[in-house]
Amino acid sequence: MIPVPEAETQLLNLTQPLTETELLPFDQAHNRILAKSVISTAPFPYWDNSAMDGYAVRAADVQTAPVTLEVIEEIPAGIPPQKTVQTGQAARIFTGAMLPTGADTIVMQEDTQREGDRVTIQTVPQPQAFVRHQGSFVQPGDIVLRPGCKLGPAELAILATVQCTTVEVYRRPRVAIFSTGDELITPAGELAPGKIVDSNQYALAAFLQQQGATVVPLGIVPDDPKSLREAIATATQQSDLVLSTGGVSVGDYDYIDQLLAELGGEIKIQSVAIKPGKPLTVATFPNCLYLGIPGNPVSALVCCWRFVRLVLQKMSGQAAPWILPWQMVRSRDRLTAGGRRETYLWGQLQGEEFVLSGGSHSSGNLMNLAQTNALAVLPVGITEIEAGAMVRILRV
Ligand code: AMP
Ligand code: MG
Repeated sequence: MIPVPEAETQLLNLTQPLTETELLPFDQAHNRILAKSVISTAPFPYWDNSAMDGYAVRAADVQTAPVTLEVIEEIPAGIPPQKTVQTGQAARIFTGAMLPTGADTIVMQEDTQREGDRVTIQTVPQPQAFVRHQGSFVQPGDIVLRPGCKLGPAELAILATVQCTTVEVYRRPRVAIFSTGDELITPAGELAPGKIVDSNQYALAAFLQQQGATVVPLGIVPDDPKSLREAIATATQQSDLVLSTGGVSVGDYDYIDQLLAELGGEIKIQSVAIKPGKPLTVATFPNCLYLGIPGNPVSALVCCWRFVRLVLQKMSGQAAPWILPWQMVRSRDRLTAGGRRETYLWGQLQGEEFVLSGGSHSSGNLMNLAQTNALAVLPVGITEIEAGAMVRILRV
């Protein structure tokens, strides 16, 4: 049994980032990982322009106030100025409109009084005030986005701004999933005595979609070595990562570890000091990482949240650091643990406070997992956190 931090380090070391890329229209690249630097070919702002509705003036003309200037034209956004602002003149200008030649300063509308074709400037502006200078944010040739960056709303706006309409991104990781167990049926199956519905397959598929992976669903595999061998072989050939659930404990029908070794997998981890989730198995194949996850529904999801998220960050080409959203918060409730394994208790982060889910914290009880958005973590050696004390949580 290895400690959780060691399992995390090992898992990340065993994860190979994908190198294959694909070209996408930028507006279809949301949440994808950029594979090449994006360089701006133009300056940004594209032109000197006004940050305010007001008047474009020559600062030299407004060294005292009030001063009255002649208004020579009106410049709306998107229309280039037609005239040069000479001494004693101003141009009416709107936010985002190009600064006219001759002017160097914007006086905001609120500091002016307009009468016909004349405007009185009532306060002395700072020279260059409210002018957004061409290229002051980005120069041609500047790198605006770097490889390994995840494309969210801000990055898509940047791509649009620099007119990068096609982007090169890493392909999505392909993740094969299958559920093992003679007791498993599909949600529409007949609930004969002793059976249980395979819920892991749906939890894992949703989790993986959320993480940006392509799911290869391989269904339910019975606890017999022949079927399992076939499933493992198929899964490892078709994917970058395999997540199987169940069959990794020490029960007589838990064959996964043995079969992984038979099929040429190198077993790297067999159990982790985590609760729930102890019998986590990790093996490597030439082009595939295999995670044998315990079958209990809560264990399966906790392993995904604690470990698989990090693996997918690195695998998907995201730049380091690969990190999880940890936080220190106050716990509303008293939290208890056995103290021998790092213990994850599920609940909700409500504002600044962790609220433990009511009901059983058995790893087989997925019912009180609904609406979980955080796991409270009790480290090895800690058996109690009092109500009102601080606790480290992992947001999920
Ligand atoms: P195992 O890890 O195979 O020993 O399974 C541990 C427990 O999780 C058993 O009670 C199983 O019935 C249950 N279980 C295993 N796989 C699934 C699954 N796919 N969906 C729901 N429960 C499962
Ligand atoms: Mg089983």
